[in-house]
Amino acid sequence: MGVGTTRKAIVIGAGIGGLCTALSLQQQGWQVSVFDKASSLREAGAGIVLAANAMKALDLLGVGETVRTVGAPVVQADIRSWDGTLITSLPAAKQAARYGTQSYVIHRADLQAILVQAVTAATPIQTNKLWVDEKRSERGVLAVFKDGTQEEADVIIGADGFHSAVRERLFGLSPVRYSGYMALRGVCTQEEASNATSGGGFEALGPGKRFGLSRLGNGRVFWFAAINSPQGKLPLVEDRKSEVLRHFYGWYSPIVSAIEATEASTILAHDIVDRPPLPRWSSGRMTLLGDAAHPMMPNLGQGGAQAIEDAIVLARCLRNPDIPIALSAYEKERMARVNRIVRMSRSMGRMVQLENPILIYLRNKLLSSVSDTRYIRRFDPIIGYEL
Ligand SMILES: Cc1cc2nc3c(=O)[nH]c(=O)nc-3n(C[C@H](O)[C@H](O)[C@H](O)COP(=O)(O)OP(=O)(O)OC[C@H]3O[C@@H](n4cnc5c(N)ncnc54)[C@H](O)[C@@H]3O)c2cc1C
Repeated sequence: MGVGTTRKAIVIGAGIGGLCTALSLQQQGWQVSVFDKASSLREAGAGIVLAANAMKALDLLGVGETVRTVGAPVVQADIRSWDGTLITSLPAAKQAARYGTQSYVIHRADLQAILVQAVTAATPIQTNKLWVDEKRSERGVLAVFKDGTQEEADVIIGADGFHSAVRERLFGLSPVRYSGYMALRGVCTQEEASNATSGGGFEALGPGKRFGLSRLGNGRVFWFAAINSPQGKLPLVEDRKSEVLRHFYGWYSPIVSAIEATEASTILAHDIVDRPPLPRWSSGRMTLLGDAAHPMMPNLGQGGAQAIEDAIVLARCLRNPDIPIALSAYEKERMARVNRIVRMSRSMGRMVQLENPILIYLRNKLLSSVSDTRYIRRFDPIIGYEL
């Protein structure tokens, strides 16, 4: 693009990563076009935890306060045994004081609505746009869509999620690593949660399965169930509720009542997977971001948070007018941190999905013996991160 003209970026994918990238680049004066293959932007019926590092990144994007208003602060984070015995309470209040913000839990649809509104104040999001290819052009790079249209820009950012077509185009297919467990998720309304003004809740651990529950505010409750199982054995939509009930029958209240209160057709099911880290995320005028770059298992609740951090660092690096150099600087700044979190998420999953009773006993003993100070120190590099 000519000197003096506004620089233009194309973002492929309007998930958390793509929307935050659009916002971040807009703040730096870029003209941004966002494309998504979906016919409409509808987020799944599930909650998401935004740890302090995610909240601080959202503050930099100017949407943190809205997220705080709509979401619920995490004031309680208990780890319990399947029968309700308290193993440990995570030091949510001490962490909030240390980091200057609480973590928040919010319905994904609410988070998406906040981000979409902020992005579309400057640029519309184009749906029904399946990205299929790129072409080099003299002025920059061309994005090619399945409908035959093309659009030119200085840079293309692939924020197209776990099954990223941009990643495949740039670096080929990379293997999927199965965790050994699937996750089912639901949102319901519970009478006993309606008076609670704050979010958070508990994670209950049983042999080869766990159940997490978090209040979202206004009586809404988000839950997830992680169950050891062979890959590719997800229950059909019509069987999901009975399957989760079967697995968690007899677990302490309000686990069974939360499942029972959930509309069966809205329960989501996923095999939990990641991919081995890539040696590079960028090539020429194209790069990857969020799950497209570094898919991770959700055990630390950091996939979305890392996508938001990526978005801020990428826009900062792109202040450099030399795009390939800017993209190298971006991946250099992000890779070590993100790859560490990918590894930690995998190993955390192994610890919380144990089946062997002796190992479970030792794990619970260990968890209950960890002091607040040690816990905070261990996770400081992740959630105490300053951008
Ligand atoms: C069970 C579970 C629980 C989780 N819990 C948390 C949590 O508590 N906290 C947290 O921070 N993270 C959590 N995560 C992770 C988080 O959800 C993801 O890391 C995050 O949503 C990734 O965002 P993204 O924008 O990179 O990708 P996505 O959200 O997958 O968005 C990709 C977008 O690209 C579009 N797209 C795909 N291909 C194309 C194409 N070829 N052309 C055009 N558009 C395309 C898609 O339609 C989609 O809208 C969890 C994940 C799971 C599975």
